[in-house]
Amino acid sequence: MSAHASILKAGPAPVQALGQPGSTTHAPSYYAASGLPQPERPPLQGRVEADVCIIGAGYTGLSSALHLAEAGFKVVVLEAARVGWGASGRNGGQLVHSYSRDMDVIEARHGQDAARALGRMAFEGAEIIKARIARYGIDCHFRPGGVFAAITDKQVHQLEHHKALWERYGHTQLELRDGRQSEAAIGSRRYRATLLDHSTGHVHPLRLAQGEAAAFEALGGVIHELSAVTRIERGEPAVVHAGRGQVKARFVIVACNAYIGDLEPQLAARSMPCGTQVIATEPLGERFPEILPTEQCVEDCNFLLDYFRLSADRRLVYGGGVIYGARDPAHIESIIRPKMLKTFPQLKDVRIDYAWTGNFLLTLTRLPEVGRLASNIYYSQGCSGHGVTFTHLIGRVLAEVIQGQSERFDAFASLPHYPFPGGRLLRVPFTALGAAYYDLRDKLGL
Ligand SMILES: Cc1cc2nc3c(=O)[nH]c(=O)nc-3n(C[C@H](O)[C@H](O)[C@H](O)COP(=O)(O)OP(=O)(O)OC[C@H]3O[C@@H](n4cnc5c(N)ncnc54)[C@H](O)[C@@H]3O)c2cc1C
Repeated sequence: MSAHASILKAGPAPVQALGQPGSTTHAPSYYAASGLPQPERPPLQGRVEADVCIIGAGYTGLSSALHLAEAGFKVVVLEAARVGWGASGRNGGQLVHSYSRDMDVIEARHGQDAARALGRMAFEGAEIIKARIARYGIDCHFRPGGVFAAITDKQVHQLEHHKALWERYGHTQLELRDGRQSEAAIGSRRYRATLLDHSTGHVHPLRLAQGEAAAFEALGGVIHELSAVTRIERGEPAVVHAGRGQVKARFVIVACNAYIGDLEPQLAARSMPCGTQVIATEPLGERFPEILPTEQCVEDCNFLLDYFRLSADRRLVYGGGVIYGARDPAHIESIIRPKMLKTFPQLKDVRIDYAWTGNFLLTLTRLPEVGRLASNIYYSQGCSGHGVTFTHLIGRVLAEVIQGQSERFDAFASLPHYPFPGGRLLRVPFTALGAAYYDLRDKLGL
C-alpha cells in the first residue's frame, strides 16, 4: 500500500487534502519524508520594511532572494505554506538545460536576436545550482548526468538534432549512445538511443529549496511561512498585505507560479495550471543492479513524457502524465505504476511507498512569462514543466533588473504571450485534445 493511501486512510478526511491549494502541509511525498530539519518561521505580524518583498518560497522566490541577499539587499520572503511547498519541493529533481521550447523553435518564432539572447543564458541555471550546492554545502544528494531517451526512430533523429542544436549554442558535454549502450546505462530495453548530458544531473528537490532558504537566512534574509499574501498595494514603496502584517518594500517579486490563485488575476489569464504525478518505490537495495547503475536521471522524448531517477536510498522515483487544469487525481499509483512497468517490467512486485501530485504552470507558447505589474513589481512564472534550472537563472536576472541592469530581463519580458484558445472555460478540453493528438503520434511512432 502506498504511503499516500495509508495517510488518507489514517483518520477523518482533512478539509484540504495534503499538499493541495489551501493546505499548508507538504504533499505526502518521499521528499517531505526525507527533507532537511527546518527552523520555525513564524507568520508575518505587524509592519515591516524591506528593500525587496518576495511572494512565494519556491525556487523562483528563493533564487531571487539569495541573489539579492548576496548583493546586500534587505529581503523579506512571504510564503503561504512552507518553504518548497509548491512544485519546487515535489518535482522530478532533474536539472534540464534550456527552455520548454528549445532554441530552434525560438529562432523560428521569435527571430535570431531573441534566440541569441536566450541562447546565451540557456545553460546558466544548472551552473547556478551546482555553484550554490558547493558554496553553501547544500546536502541535496546531487548526482551528475542527465539522459534524454528515444523510444522511436523519429526520436533518435530528434536527439541528433538536439545535440547539434545545443552544440551550436556552445554546449560541449553531450554524448549520444546507441540502444545497447542505453540499455546498459538504464536497465530497460525500451530505448533505441539516448543523449547523455554530462553537465547536468539531479537533486532531492525539497532539500535544494530548504538549503537555499538556509543560505538566504544565514545572510540575514527573513522568511515568514504561513503568510499568504492577499493584496499588493501599488505605490513606491509598495505595500504587501498578508494575514496580520504588511511589508513596505521598494520592490516586489511575485513568484507564486501555478499556486497563485486569485492574487493577481492578470497573471492567471495567459497560463494554465497543470498537474503531474510522481511515485517512489520502496528502496530497491541490491535486488536490481541493472537499473540506473550510473545513477543518471532520465526523461524520455514523448510529448507527454516519463521522467525517473534513483534517490539517494535507491528508490526509483518515477513521474509522468499531465492533468490539464490540475485536478487532483484519485489514484496516482494506478496512473504512474503502469508507465513504470512499461519501462521496468522487472519491478512488477515492488511496493510503492509514496505517491503525490504537484502543479506546474503552462503557457501557450511554452516559454516562461516574465515581466512587470508596475514599475517596481516584477514577476516570473510559467516555465511549463521545465523549471528547475530556469527558475534559478531568472532569480539572478530579477536581481539584476532590481540593481538597474535590465538587458537580460528585457530579453524574456519582450517575448509575446497569448491566452489559451477557449478562454478559462474551454482551455482545458482544447489543450487536452491537442495533447492527445501528439500523444497518439508518439504511440504510433509518427
Ligand atoms: C511533479 C512535478 C515534477 C516536475 N519535474 C521537473 C523536473 O524534473 N525538472 C524540471 O526542470 N522541472 C520540473 N517541474 C517543474 C518545476 O518544478 C517548476 O517549474 C518550478 O519548481 C517552479 O518553481 P516556482 O518557484 O516558480 O513555483 P513553486 O515551487 O510552485 O512555488 C510557488 C510558491 O508560491 C507560494 N504562493 C502562492 N501563492 C501565494 C501567496 N498568495 N502568498 C504567499 N505565497 C504564495 C506557494 O505556496 C508556493 O510555495 C516539475 C513540476 C512538478 C509539479
